[in-house]
Amino acid sequence: MNTQARPTALITGASSGIGATYADRLARRGHDLLLVARDAQRLQVLAERLRSAYGIAVEVMPADLTQKTDVRKVEQRLREDAAIGLLVNNAGVSMNGTLAQADLEYAEQMIELNVVALTRLAAAAAANFSAVGRGGIINLGSVVALAPEMFNAVYSATKAYVLSLSQTLAAELRSSNVQVQAVLPGLTRTEIFERSGTDASLLPPSMIMAVEELVDAALAGFDQQELVTIPSLPDAADWEAFVAARAVLGPNLSHNQAAARYK
Ligand code: NAP
Repeated sequence: MNTQARPTALITGASSGIGATYADRLARRGHDLLLVARDAQRLQVLAERLRSAYGIAVEVMPADLTQKTDVRKVEQRLREDAAIGLLVNNAGVSMNGTLAQADLEYAEQMIELNVVALTRLAAAAAANFSAVGRGGIINLGSVVALAPEMFNAVYSATKAYVLSLSQTLAAELRSSNVQVQAVLPGLTRTEIFERSGTDASLLPPSMIMAVEELVDAALAGFDQQELVTIPSLPDAADWEAFVAARAVLGPNLSHNQAAARYK
Protein backbone atom coordinates (compact mmCIF):
# COMPACT_ATOMS: atom_id res chain seq x y z
CA MET A 1 0.00 0.00 0.00
CA ASN A 2 1.30 3.44 -0.91
CA THR A 3 1.34 5.27 2.43
CA GLN A 4 1.26 8.61 0.59
CA ALA A 5 -2.09 7.75 -1.02
CA ARG A 6 -3.65 5.94 1.97
CA PRO A 7 -1.84 7.05 5.10
CA THR A 8 -2.45 5.41 8.46
CA ALA A 9 -5.49 6.87 10.22
CA LEU A 10 -5.41 7.38 13.99
CA ILE A 11 -8.95 7.28 15.39
CA THR A 12 -9.75 8.18 18.99
CA GLY A 13 -12.86 6.74 20.59
CA ALA A 14 -12.70 3.87 18.12
CA SER A 15 -14.22 1.23 20.39
CA SER A 16 -17.85 2.16 19.67
CA GLY A 17 -20.29 4.39 17.81
CA ILE A 18 -19.00 7.00 15.41
CA GLY A 19 -15.32 6.13 15.96
CA ALA A 20 -15.83 2.41 15.31
CA THR A 21 -17.78 3.29 12.16
CA TYR A 22 -14.98 5.57 10.94
CA ALA A 23 -12.63 2.63 11.53
CA ASP A 24 -14.78 0.40 9.33
CA ARG A 25 -15.15 2.96 6.54
CA LEU A 26 -11.50 4.01 6.51
CA ALA A 27 -10.40 0.36 6.54
CA ARG A 28 -12.69 -0.21 3.56
CA ARG A 29 -10.90 2.66 1.80
CA GLY A 30 -7.57 0.89 2.40
CA HIS A 31 -6.16 2.92 5.30
CA ASP A 32 -4.11 1.14 7.93
CA LEU A 33 -5.44 2.04 11.36
CA LEU A 34 -4.29 3.01 14.82
CA LEU A 35 -7.24 2.64 17.19
CA VAL A 36 -7.40 4.51 20.50
CA ALA A 37 -9.90 4.16 23.38
CA ARG A 38 -9.91 2.79 26.94
CA ASP A 39 -11.51 -0.59 26.28
CA ALA A 40 -8.59 -2.66 24.95
CA GLN A 41 -10.67 -5.79 24.50
CA ARG A 42 -13.28 -4.08 22.32
CA LEU A 43 -10.53 -2.49 20.26
CA GLN A 44 -8.87 -5.90 19.75
CA VAL A 45 -12.13 -7.48 18.58
CA LEU A 46 -12.72 -4.63 16.13
CA ALA A 47 -9.11 -4.76 14.92
CA GLU A 48 -9.35 -8.47 14.23
CA ARG A 49 -12.57 -8.04 12.28
CA LEU A 50 -11.13 -5.21 10.16
CA ARG A 51 -7.87 -7.04 9.45
CA SER A 52 -9.69 -10.08 8.16
CA ALA A 53 -12.41 -8.16 6.28
CA TYR A 54 -10.18 -5.63 4.53
CA GLY A 55 -6.61 -6.99 4.72
CA ILE A 56 -5.25 -3.83 6.31
CA ALA A 57 -2.90 -3.42 9.29
CA VAL A 58 -4.54 -2.39 12.55
CA GLU A 59 -2.76 -1.43 15.74
CA VAL A 60 -4.53 -0.98 19.02
CA MET A 61 -3.40 1.68 21.48
CA PRO A 62 -5.43 1.61 24.71
CA ALA A 63 -5.47 5.02 26.38
CA ASP A 64 -7.59 7.03 28.76
CA LEU A 65 -7.51 10.47 27.18
CA THR A 66 -8.51 12.18 30.42
CA GLN A 67 -5.13 11.08 31.83
CA LYS A 68 -2.11 13.27 31.07
CA THR A 69 0.35 10.40 30.62
CA ASP A 70 -1.94 8.59 28.18
CA VAL A 71 -2.63 11.75 26.16
CA ARG A 72 1.11 12.46 25.96
CA LYS A 73 1.73 8.90 24.70
CA VAL A 74 -0.77 9.26 21.83
CA GLU A 75 0.41 12.78 21.12
CA GLN A 76 4.03 11.65 20.88
CA ARG A 77 3.08 8.89 18.45
CA LEU A 78 1.22 11.45 16.33
CA ARG A 79 4.25 13.74 16.30
CA GLU A 80 6.79 11.05 15.45
CA ASP A 81 5.13 8.51 13.18
CA ALA A 82 5.48 9.62 9.56
CA ALA A 83 3.09 6.90 8.38
CA ILE A 84 0.15 8.62 10.10
CA GLY A 85 -1.59 11.08 7.79
CA LEU A 86 -5.13 11.23 9.10
CA LEU A 87 -6.42 12.01 12.60
CA VAL A 88 -10.05 11.41 13.53
CA ASN A 89 -10.35 13.34 16.79
CA ASN A 90 -13.57 11.66 17.87
CA ALA A 91 -13.42 10.48 21.51
CA GLY A 92 -15.96 12.39 23.55
CA VAL A 93 -18.53 12.12 26.31
CA SER A 94 -21.72 14.00 27.06
CA MET A 95 -23.73 14.96 30.11
CA ASN A 96 -27.24 16.13 30.98
CA GLY A 97 -28.74 18.70 33.30
CA THR A 98 -28.24 22.31 34.24
CA LEU A 99 -24.95 23.96 35.11
CA ALA A 100 -26.16 24.89 38.59
CA GLN A 101 -26.77 21.22 39.38
CA ALA A 102 -23.88 19.76 37.44
CA ASP A 103 -21.46 17.17 38.75
CA LEU A 104 -18.45 19.41 38.28
CA GLU A 105 -15.92 16.60 38.66
CA TYR A 106 -17.55 14.88 35.70
CA ALA A 107 -17.79 18.18 33.79
CA GLU A 108 -14.06 18.70 34.29
CA GLN A 109 -13.29 15.19 32.98
CA MET A 110 -15.47 15.95 29.98
CA ILE A 111 -13.50 19.13 29.29
CA GLU A 112 -10.25 17.14 29.60
CA LEU A 113 -11.48 14.71 26.95
CA ASN A 114 -13.60 16.84 24.59
CA VAL A 115 -11.33 19.90 24.71
CA VAL A 116 -7.86 19.34 26.18
CA ALA A 117 -7.03 15.97 24.63
CA LEU A 118 -8.58 16.97 21.30
CA THR A 119 -6.47 20.15 21.27
CA ARG A 120 -3.20 18.40 22.07
CA LEU A 121 -3.78 15.71 19.43
CA ALA A 122 -4.81 18.27 16.79
CA ALA A 123 -1.67 20.28 17.53
CA ALA A 124 0.58 17.23 17.25
CA ALA A 125 -1.06 16.18 13.98
CA ALA A 126 -0.83 19.73 12.60
CA ALA A 127 2.91 19.81 13.32
CA ASN A 128 3.57 16.34 11.86
CA PHE A 129 1.38 16.73 8.76
CA SER A 130 2.35 20.30 7.84
CA ALA A 131 6.05 19.34 7.99
CA VAL A 132 5.47 16.98 5.06
CA GLY A 133 2.75 19.01 3.35
CA ARG A 134 -0.12 16.52 3.48
CA GLY A 135 -2.72 15.05 5.79
CA GLY A 136 -6.16 15.47 7.28
CA ILE A 137 -7.56 16.34 10.70
CA ILE A 138 -11.22 15.50 11.36
CA ASN A 139 -12.65 16.92 14.59
CA LEU A 140 -16.00 15.72 15.93
CA GLY A 141 -18.06 18.67 17.08
CA SER A 142 -21.85 18.74 17.32
CA VAL A 143 -24.76 20.80 16.05
CA VAL A 144 -25.17 22.05 19.62
CA ALA A 145 -22.19 24.27 18.85
CA LEU A 146 -24.74 26.25 16.82
CA ALA A 147 -27.73 25.76 19.13
CA PRO A 148 -26.33 25.80 22.67
CA GLU A 149 -29.65 26.58 24.33
CA MET A 150 -30.92 23.15 23.26
CA PHE A 151 -28.63 21.12 25.49
CA ASN A 152 -26.22 20.91 28.41
CA ALA A 153 -24.10 24.05 28.86
CA VAL A 154 -20.67 22.46 29.30
CA TYR A 155 -21.11 19.85 26.57
CA SER A 156 -22.35 22.49 24.11
CA ALA A 157 -19.45 24.77 25.01
CA THR A 158 -16.92 21.96 24.42
CA LYS A 159 -18.40 21.46 20.97
CA ALA A 160 -18.40 25.21 20.20
CA TYR A 161 -14.71 25.05 21.11
CA VAL A 162 -14.18 22.23 18.60
CA LEU A 163 -15.81 24.28 15.84
CA SER A 164 -13.82 27.40 16.69
CA LEU A 165 -10.52 25.51 16.94
CA SER A 166 -11.15 23.82 13.60
CA GLN A 167 -11.90 27.12 11.87
CA THR A 168 -8.70 28.73 13.15
CA LEU A 169 -6.60 25.63 12.47
CA ALA A 170 -7.88 25.41 8.90
CA ALA A 171 -6.83 29.04 8.34
CA GLU A 172 -3.40 28.37 9.86
CA LEU A 173 -2.84 25.31 7.67
CA ARG A 174 -4.30 26.77 4.48
CA SER A 175 -0.96 26.92 2.67
CA SER A 176 0.35 23.59 3.95
CA ASN A 177 -1.95 21.20 2.10
CA VAL A 178 -3.34 19.81 5.37
CA GLN A 179 -7.13 19.50 5.34
CA VAL A 180 -9.19 20.28 8.44
CA GLN A 181 -12.82 19.31 8.86
CA ALA A 182 -15.25 19.88 11.73
CA VAL A 183 -18.10 17.37 11.65
CA LEU A 184 -21.28 18.55 13.40
CA PRO A 185 -23.59 15.57 13.96
CA GLY A 186 -27.11 15.94 15.24
CA LEU A 187 -28.57 13.11 17.33
CA THR A 188 -26.90 9.89 16.21
CA ARG A 189 -27.74 6.41 17.43
CA THR A 190 -24.71 5.34 19.53
CA GLU A 191 -23.90 4.42 23.11
CA ILE A 192 -23.47 8.08 24.04
CA PHE A 193 -27.06 8.26 25.33
CA GLU A 194 -26.89 5.34 27.73
CA ARG A 195 -23.42 6.43 28.85
CA SER A 196 -24.77 9.86 29.80
CA GLY A 197 -27.96 8.53 31.36
CA THR A 198 -30.38 9.48 28.58
CA ASP A 199 -33.18 7.16 27.56
CA ALA A 200 -32.76 7.19 23.75
CA SER A 201 -36.23 5.68 23.32
CA LEU A 202 -37.69 9.00 24.49
CA LEU A 203 -35.98 10.93 21.67
CA PRO A 204 -38.02 11.57 18.51
CA PRO A 205 -36.99 8.89 15.96
CA SER A 206 -37.27 11.43 13.12
CA MET A 207 -34.36 13.33 14.68
CA ILE A 208 -31.94 10.43 15.18
CA MET A 209 -29.57 9.36 12.40
CA ALA A 210 -28.06 5.91 12.01
CA VAL A 211 -24.36 6.00 12.74
CA GLU A 212 -23.39 4.54 9.34
CA GLU A 213 -25.37 7.25 7.54
CA LEU A 214 -23.70 9.91 9.67
CA VAL A 215 -20.14 8.71 9.03
CA ASP A 216 -20.71 8.13 5.30
CA ALA A 217 -22.06 11.68 4.96
CA ALA A 218 -19.18 13.10 7.01
CA LEU A 219 -16.65 11.33 4.76
CA ALA A 220 -18.49 12.60 1.67
CA GLY A 221 -18.09 16.11 3.11
CA PHE A 222 -14.40 15.43 3.72
CA ASP A 223 -13.99 14.28 0.11
CA GLN A 224 -15.67 17.53 -0.97
CA GLN A 225 -13.07 19.43 1.11
CA GLU A 226 -15.70 20.96 3.38
CA LEU A 227 -14.38 22.75 6.44
CA VAL A 228 -17.69 22.27 8.27
CA THR A 229 -19.96 19.31 7.58
CA ILE A 230 -23.48 19.18 9.02
CA PRO A 231 -24.81 15.84 7.79
CA SER A 232 -28.48 16.60 8.59
CA LEU A 233 -28.66 20.02 6.97
CA PRO A 234 -30.70 19.70 3.73
CA ASP A 235 -29.63 22.99 2.13
CA ALA A 236 -25.94 23.97 2.21
CA ALA A 237 -27.00 27.53 1.37
CA ASP A 238 -28.34 27.89 4.94
CA TRP A 239 -24.85 27.30 6.34
CA GLU A 240 -23.32 29.61 3.74
CA ALA A 241 -25.79 32.36 4.78
CA PHE A 242 -24.70 31.87 8.41
CA VAL A 243 -21.02 32.19 7.42
CA ALA A 244 -21.82 35.29 5.33
CA ALA A 245 -23.67 36.90 8.27
CA ARG A 246 -20.58 36.37 10.42
CA ALA A 247 -18.38 37.91 7.75
CA VAL A 248 -20.56 41.03 7.76
CA LEU A 249 -19.70 41.57 11.45
CA GLY A 250 -15.96 41.24 10.73
CA PRO A 251 -14.98 44.82 9.81
CA ASN A 252 -16.82 46.26 12.84
CA LEU A 253 -15.70 43.97 15.66
CA SER A 254 -12.81 46.15 16.85
CA HIS A 255 -12.79 49.97 16.72
CA ASN A 256 -11.18 52.62 18.91
CA GLN A 257 -14.61 53.97 19.90
CA ALA A 258 -17.69 52.36 21.38
CA ALA A 259 -20.78 52.33 19.21
CA ALA A 260 -23.07 55.36 19.45
CA ARG A 261 -25.80 53.40 21.27
CA TYR A 262 -23.47 52.92 24.26
CA LYS A 263 -22.73 56.62 24.73
P1 NAP B 1 -19.92 6.57 22.01
O1 NAP B 1 -20.51 5.44 21.24
O2 NAP B 1 -20.22 6.66 23.48
O3 NAP B 1 -18.36 6.57 21.76
C1 NAP B 1 -17.48 7.35 22.50
C2 NAP B 1 -16.06 6.82 22.30
O4 NAP B 1 -15.17 7.62 23.08
C3 NAP B 1 -15.91 5.37 22.74
O5 NAP B 1 -15.10 4.70 21.83
C4 NAP B 1 -15.22 5.50 24.09
O6 NAP B 1 -14.44 4.33 24.29
C5 NAP B 1 -14.37 6.73 23.87
N1 NAP B 1 -14.01 7.36 25.12
C6 NAP B 1 -14.83 7.77 26.11
N2 NAP B 1 -14.12 8.24 27.14
C7 NAP B 1 -12.80 8.11 26.80
C8 NAP B 1 -11.58 8.39 27.45
N3 NAP B 1 -11.56 8.90 28.70
N4 NAP B 1 -10.42 8.13 26.80
C9 NAP B 1 -10.43 7.60 25.55
N5 NAP B 1 -11.56 7.31 24.88
C10 NAP B 1 -12.73 7.56 25.51
O7 NAP B 1 -20.39 7.97 21.43
P2 NAP B 1 -20.39 8.57 19.94
O8 NAP B 1 -21.76 9.09 19.71
O9 NAP B 1 -19.81 7.64 18.95
O10 NAP B 1 -19.46 9.83 20.15
C11 NAP B 1 -18.33 10.11 19.33
C12 NAP B 1 -18.19 11.62 19.20
O11 NAP B 1 -19.32 12.15 18.49
C13 NAP B 1 -18.13 12.38 20.53
O12 NAP B 1 -17.14 13.38 20.46
C14 NAP B 1 -19.51 12.99 20.64
O13 NAP B 1 -19.51 14.16 21.42
C15 NAP B 1 -19.80 13.28 19.17
N6 NAP B 1 -21.25 13.46 18.89
C16 NAP B 1 -22.13 12.45 19.08
C17 NAP B 1 -23.47 12.67 18.84
C18 NAP B 1 -24.52 11.60 19.04
O14 NAP B 1 -25.73 11.93 19.07
N7 NAP B 1 -24.13 10.33 19.17
C19 NAP B 1 -23.92 13.93 18.40
C20 NAP B 1 -22.99 14.93 18.21
C21 NAP B 1 -21.65 14.69 18.45
P3 NAP B 1 -14.00 3.68 25.69
O15 NAP B 1 -15.18 3.68 26.58
O16 NAP B 1 -13.51 2.32 25.28
O17 NAP B 1 -12.87 4.54 26.18
